[in-house]
Amino acid sequence: MDAIGILKQLKDKGVRFTPQRQAILEFLLETQSHPTADEIYHHVKAKFPGVSLGTIYNTLNMLKEHGHLLELSYGDMASRFDGNPKNHYHIVCSKCGKVADFHGPLIEMDQEVTEKSGFLILGHRMEFYGICPECCKGEKLN
Ligand code: ZN
Ligand code: MN
Repeated sequence: MDAIGILKQLKDKGVRFTPQRQAILEFLLETQSHPTADEIYHHVKAKFPGVSLGTIYNTLNMLKEHGHLLELSYGDMASRFDGNPKNHYHIVCSKCGKVADFHGPLIEMDQEVTEKSGFLILGHRMEFYGICPECCKGEKLN
């Protein structure tokens, strides 16, 4: 579904449909970069100079609540946002901080962990850490 489709669906649930929200969601659906809220703000500001960082956070929280967004948090570093809400794995570059998708088979251990731990497992997250191809090239030059 595209941004307009998602927002129309949300409108039926009482969520306000605004052009700023459309621009935020469109950017999240088209980018592969897993942007921070700040990066989303700067992108949307180019088209809507009046947009505030508050509107960005507000929209991100709303989309997350409705299951249209993944928030990838990294301790005290800024969260990254992903317009693909289905679980998938990520690779993080330890040098430049780039976050890339890795689309492979998902580990099916939630049930087993539930049985063995007593926790009701709702999901899991997996991250790979490494050096991205661009940073690898830089390494060789040095
Ligand atoms: Zn890198
Ligand atoms: Mn992703």
